[in-house]
Amino acid sequence: MTEPVHTACPYCGVGCGVVVQPDETIKADPLHPSNRGRLCSKGAALAATLDDSTRLTVPTVFGREADWDDALRLVADRFRETIAAHGPDSVAFYVSGQCLTEDYYVANKLMKGFIGSANIDTNSRLCMASSVAGHVRAFGEDVVPGVYEDWDEADLVVLVGSNTAWCHPVLHQRLQAARSAHGTKVVVLDPRRTATAETADLHIPLAPGSDVALFNGLLSYLYRTGKVDAAWIDRHASGFADALEAASAVTVEDRLCLAGEFALGQRPVGSPSLVAKGRSPAGMETTIETVAAECGVDPEVLETFFDMFAKTERVMTVYSQGVNQSSSGTDKVNAIVNCHLATGRIGRPGAGPFSVTGQPNAMGGREVGGLANQLAAHMRFGDAADRAALRAFWKAPALAETPGLKAVELFDAVLDGRIKAIWIVATNPAASMPRAGRVREALAACPFVVVSDCWPTDTSALAHVVLPAAGWGEKDGTVTNSERRISRQRAFRRPPGQARPDWRQFAEVGRLMGWADAFAWQTPAAVFREHAALSGHANDGRRVFDISAMADVDEAGYAAMQPFRWPLPAGSSSEGGRLFAKGGFPTSDGRARFVPTPYRPLPRTGLLLNTGRIRDQWHTMTRTGLSPALMSHTPEPMLAMHPADAAAAGIVQGALTRLTTAEGNVLLRAELRHTQRHGEVFAPMHWTDLFASTGPVGRVVSAAVDPISGQPDLKATAATAEPVTVYFHGLLLRRTGGALSDICHWVRVPVTEGQMYRLAGLRPLPVGGELTRFASALLDLPAGTEWLEVSDKRRGVLRVAAVSDGALEACLFLAADASGLPNEAALIPMLGAPVPDATRTKLLAGRMYDATAAEGPKVCACFGVTRDAVRHAVATHHLASVQQIGVLLRAGTNCGSCIPELEEIVRDVRMPAG
Ligand code: SF4
Repeated sequence: MTEPVHTACPYCGVGCGVVVQPDETIKADPLHPSNRGRLCSKGAALAATLDDSTRLTVPTVFGREADWDDALRLVADRFRETIAAHGPDSVAFYVSGQCLTEDYYVANKLMKGFIGSANIDTNSRLCMASSVAGHVRAFGEDVVPGVYEDWDEADLVVLVGSNTAWCHPVLHQRLQAARSAHGTKVVVLDPRRTATAETADLHIPLAPGSDVALFNGLLSYLYRTGKVDAAWIDRHASGFADALEAASAVTVEDRLCLAGEFALGQRPVGSPSLVAKGRSPAGMETTIETVAAECGVDPEVLETFFDMFAKTERVMTVYSQGVNQSSSGTDKVNAIVNCHLATGRIGRPGAGPFSVTGQPNAMGGREVGGLANQLAAHMRFGDAADRAALRAFWKAPALAETPGLKAVELFDAVLDGRIKAIWIVATNPAASMPRAGRVREALAACPFVVVSDCWPTDTSALAHVVLPAAGWGEKDGTVTNSERRISRQRAFRRPPGQARPDWRQFAEVGRLMGWADAFAWQTPAAVFREHAALSGHANDGRRVFDISAMADVDEAGYAAMQPFRWPLPAGSSSEGGRLFAKGGFPTSDGRARFVPTPYRPLPRTGLLLNTGRIRDQWHTMTRTGLSPALMSHTPEPMLAMHPADAAAAGIVQGALTRLTTAEGNVLLRAELRHTQRHGEVFAPMHWTDLFASTGPVGRVVSAAVDPISGQPDLKATAATAEPVTVYFHGLLLRRTGGALSDICHWVRVPVTEGQMYRLAGLRPLPVGGELTRFASALLDLPAGTEWLEVSDKRRGVLRVAAVSDGALEACLFLAADASGLPNEAALIPMLGAPVPDATRTKLLAGRMYDATAAEGPKVCACFGVTRDAVRHAVATHHLASVQQIGVLLRAGTNCGSCIPELEEIVRDVRMPAG
């Protein structure tokens, strides 16, 4: 590479542009319309993740290296044989929102068009399937009506179940800029007081799962206060009366009780034309108090929000996983959309419902039919004309006629033997799926498992065939972000070893299975052209998704393609903008649909486990886990608990805690926070077998799903928590990674020169020769490495340091009490450092260097500024603002992700004692 390459960040659905310089330094793209020169901590650390040393580089078959031809022929043969013996529904693909649109398109064409099954689902099922289902129910098609400019133009932004400060940081920065510019108000609806809630004008800590009750209450309030736009509804929507009726009872039970009274026909307040005769909810409508009680919030606070929403024309409701990952996720989406339809606030500047997607290409997957219940190009299984059009376009007589299995059902079918061959691409379901232990059982029992990935994962460990995939920066294609903007991802480096793009792997298998013409593409541009042409095929305005203007793009045009928003139909030269302000919904009559959303409260027993993201990690950490800077923000998976819940369970701050659900248990460090609601705990989703002995929290998450979208509820598993007896504590630093078997509970933290492991003994420390063997296994040293050792058996202390070629190769500190361990910040820089003879005696003290504020846990990943450094600076320099911190330390001046934490530190340090 001799020139800078413009590409897109591979993480979240914001879809930021980045520029890669010839020396592989990576900066924000100032010209990309999605981020306009901003990046978050993850994007800013991308260069640190380009290390190839842990990549998969060669295909393996049954654990042995193989060449590509043999590996792909085996895949094709086993799929063909399985289909011949058991039918097309006996095989499946499970793909990913990390796939580029071209990868997705080819996989979907192979499964739905030629194998003849719809058993292809994607990890986007875990991310935004409820938004897809909600959009289809309300608009007739999976379409996000708004654009990012709305974030600048809104007067009120309502964030529902969306910790944008951590999960979509660049949009959060954009919102903060809008607040500074013209005072946009922000309301956060979230059970947790997140970093986003900390910055909001109003935080409503609603009870988990009560979103439908709240938005039903809002719909009733809008109606009662005369804020419904009857003229817009009359022209552009239908079903208002039914939705209002459903919204006018707090729970399903109430609704059934009230059904008889609705028949009395009392006239409601508001437009008579909107409520069918004889179905008036007058007299029994929800009140602020009943809604507040159901949501567990202060009625005054709720009324304040309802009033803000009612009085603000430019209002956006932004939602993500707190809404989608729910057993009532689709109803939550429609309850939100109902309020926007009722006020006609959709598709106008600064107004509308806005789903932000988790993954970089969840939206692109939706465009090509990556979900088991969709066909390509937003065509529908339930529409015979769509099926006929797709069959003709693809020349695919075997086109699947009915939807396939959604993710949870799909792995259940693997477990019970209905699916006998599965190909998993760019995702790690053995860690990320709910009931992940059951997924592991399923894969272990499956006769044929293929995994394509960039890195070894918990899932690839269970595969018969492992195919090394080209990753970010190594392949070309497109992605679509949350505002329908399609951007190019461009290659700027060679894939390591023999790694290949996923689309090429699927295309080759398609050819080997006998469909040479249908899978003949030679470039990703050729795949994109076909995808674009299909979007316009038999469309005639029936489907909003249409990018047929790009159907003839040549190789040079594809290489130079600039980001654009769909729709972009043939003949159009300007990108898509806001949609639906004047109706024109892709339904049979052009009208949007209000959807009745009766409220079903969550059953409550014990604690409720909520899982989600933390600021500096991405999914199962295959990429972000390579960056010591990103690891330093939260080095160990925690269990956030309210102090009162912890006290009731006998759990103290930092205690190793067993979290138990019906699916099993995991061990996590308790972190006591007043920002948690009573009765609810939170654990991050990221850690896997490769980073912690306890493995992923997904193992204990239940697999309850939304009945419409099939999206699992990852935020409401009944759980209990108890402290774990720890017999000894330890710190281990060594050059090598890898699991430590089950010697003790461990968490691995990558550091600059190797790995640090935090250890917790679940059994007493062994003695005598057993102790030496125990230490030796942990240190994993080359033969003949020199050891220094000191032990005090009476106090249960062991300290070992190993020096090789004059540098510290590894060290191990074990102590009965955690206070007997050296300071991590002082220890980490010792690994790999030269050890002069004069300092050898200091090795076993674990303090060859002084701990400095520069070596502790970092709050600002961009500039490596530690929490202690910020605290120190605020206290000694009497700093009163984030801006002052930025001037002194630079923290918070780049991506801004750490600003909420900086504000918290300022408040905390400056708060008078008592
Ligand atoms: Fe990447 Fe961060 Fe932008 Fe998301 S917000 S696309 S993670 S840089």
